[in-house]
Amino acid sequence: MSEKNTTEDVAIVLVAAGRGMRAGGGIPKQYRMLAGRAVIARTLAGLARALPHARIVPVIHPDDAVLFEAASADCSVNMMPWVAGGDTRQHSVLAGLRSLGDNPPQIVLIHDCARPFASAQLICECVRAAREHGAIVPALAISDAMKTLGAKSTLGEDVDRNSVRAVQTPQAFTYALIRDAHERAKAAGVGNLSDDAAAAQWAGHTIYAIAGEAGNMKLTNPEDFRSAQAALAAELSDVRTGLGYDVHAFGAGDHVWLGGLQIPHEAGLVGHSDADVLLHALTDAILGAIADGDIGSHFPPSDMRWKGAASDQFLRHAIDLVAARGGLVAHLDATIICEAPKIGPHRDAIRANVAKICGLDLGRVAIKATTSEKLGFTGRREGIAVQAVATVRLPWGD
Ligand code: MG
Repeated sequence: MSEKNTTEDVAIVLVAAGRGMRAGGGIPKQYRMLAGRAVIARTLAGLARALPHARIVPVIHPDDAVLFEAASADCSVNMMPWVAGGDTRQHSVLAGLRSLGDNPPQIVLIHDCARPFASAQLICECVRAAREHGAIVPALAISDAMKTLGAKSTLGEDVDRNSVRAVQTPQAFTYALIRDAHERAKAAGVGNLSDDAAAAQWAGHTIYAIAGEAGNMKLTNPEDFRSAQAALAAELSDVRTGLGYDVHAFGAGDHVWLGGLQIPHEAGLVGHSDADVLLHALTDAILGAIADGDIGSHFPPSDMRWKGAASDQFLRHAIDLVAARGGLVAHLDATIICEAPKIGPHRDAIRANVAKICGLDLGRVAIKATTSEKLGFTGRREGIAVQAVATVRLPWGD
């Protein structure tokens, strides 16, 4: 049987209607960026890689429609129009299942969008096992000792860890079975079921467990995002270094732009844009690391759009190019070379602003300054030079 024949009768309900803010970032966690890509985009891509012919029904909160469209714009998946979620996870799943009612699949996977790391192997095994058993969940053995928790955080009884499992998604069912279970639960006013396996169990079905994956983590807290970021960075093993260098001459004016900040000075810097020599050098360093031309090829001085332009957009564009390749900027380092203005009093503010422009933690940005001991053009106070180095991590492949 070809792959097409084995997956075209499969649909996936992607549950993404939660407003989970515990992970931080000020937006629901499924729309937060993880190493340059929204969580939900990673989850969609993983599902489509495993089951390219399966239909995917995203169930979202209508208030998040703009966030969802933006996050999923680049996803080439077999996606149906999004469905508005209900007031509980249970009702959201039912809304997704009902949307498939006109052309029901044989097998349906129900997956939590905050689990972007389910492997293709696991997803395909869920389909296979659901065909055999009708209702399956991936479940993970627990290696820690297990205890019940008593009053006031005191320990209760020992629990035999061999008798319990941590249950994950995707959970897979024959469509008729899980649709019927959810419809009956709703009709009966049962609204506190923890997941779809619980709905199927409530309806009297036997659920089989297959081996889950430790890597199939659910992103919930800021720590989860930090460890996921670290795990992804470890996958981005193609580490590249780029060099940037720029010079601008002093001219008329009473301030210079450095790192996106206005620094008072007895002269200005001459340039087509705002002449932010630091941001230009950093932009070139990043472009160098991804071997994608230089700032002049992306933003030609002949183009009047860039006349007087704020240079933070050049740097952001370079960062976006890295993200578009599935990579991230790991570190930026720059040395500003001039006799004046004195950089020291402004260095912390410049560093913080560069980190902000790039969306990087402060610890990933270094800004240094030196004079050239009155030698050369910088020594003669004719202008400012900047040297910059960028370290970029990309996935292997291009
Ligand atoms: Mg320049």
